[in-house]
Amino acid sequence: MFINHLLKNNPYLISNKPFMYSQCLKTSSRTVLKNGFVKLIDCMPKQIPFESKVMGCDYAIVQAARVSYAQGTKDIETDSKLIKYLYKNKHTSPFEMVKFKFHVKAPIFVARQWFRHRMGNYNEISGRYTILPNEIYIPSKVSSQSKENKQLSSNDDLLKDENINEHMDDYIKGANNQFNQYKKLLKIGVSRETARIALPLNMFTEFYFCIDLHNLLNFIKLRNSWNAQYEIKEYACAIEDIISPLCPITMEAYKEYKTVTLTNAEYQKLMKIDKK
Ligand SMILES: Cc1cc2nc3c(=O)[nH]c(=O)nc-3n(C[C@H](O)[C@H](O)[C@H](O)COP(=O)(O)OP(=O)(O)OC[C@H]3O[C@@H](n4cnc5c(N)ncnc54)[C@H](O)[C@@H]3O)c2cc1C
Repeated sequence: MFINHLLKNNPYLISNKPFMYSQCLKTSSRTVLKNGFVKLIDCMPKQIPFESKVMGCDYAIVQAARVSYAQGTKDIETDSKLIKYLYKNKHTSPFEMVKFKFHVKAPIFVARQWFRHRMGNYNEISGRYTILPNEIYIPSKVSSQSKENKQLSSNDDLLKDENINEHMDDYIKGANNQFNQYKKLLKIGVSRETARIALPLNMFTEFYFCIDLHNLLNFIKLRNSWNAQYEIKEYACAIEDIISPLCPITMEAYKEYKTVTLTNAEYQKLMKIDKK
């Protein structure tokens, strides 16, 4: 669908000039957690030969993979098979030829999880240079600690409980108070770098995130996952949504072959079911 949209609306497609992906980046932004966002700022390859236009960024994968025997892309079916073969067999370096740059606005606690992905490149807004805006994330759902998993929440809604609702309210008010205190410290002359040190983790921060497709799929796999925290999952889901039409064949391969970890007992159980 996105490809059809591009074919209709891109002026480069009516000529034999290279296909410029930068022309279609306008639409690639998603609002996340009400005040946050993910925006695709740039991607590589930006130029795709006219005859390979339907491949989008997938073009660069095939182009790199075939360099070993000095050939470029072939027809879409053969190229599709090659991408799936590469993905399935973990021949990962051709996927590193595709790069994405995002502008992200997210709560600090989400950014902390995000920055653990070391293969990305980051540049974040600095509280030493700028006065940070009073934007805090307030969760719309609050649940109890999961009994089965040490990291996760259960699926209940504690905000129905008046007492818990009140405690959450106080907690959020506390975050707001910290911000007001920050503003007061700035006003009486305390430096920005010191005034910010006790700001809450639910404040929004902004950063640029640049990453290749191989490592981005690792990010999506880990963060758009059942055991990721809801908030970062929303961002990973938005990114998956943005890149899916830009590298459609790779995303098909990702969905088909992304690995799941099974214990030996689980594997044996599956094999038994299969035999029945
Ligand atoms: C559900 C969940 C819970 C988590 N809980 C915690 C937690 O409690 N505490 C915590 O600290 N982190 C936690 N993490 C972060 C996790 O340990 C990883 O750091 C993070 O997910 C990044 O994954 P990655 O290393 O695969 O990605 P990247 O950092 O992008 O690295 C990609 C790959 O490159 C290689 N690599 C990158 N850097 C190095 C390096 N320095 N040395 C060797 N190989 C490298 C590795 O093969 C790695 O898989 C959690 C992550 C998830 C998804």
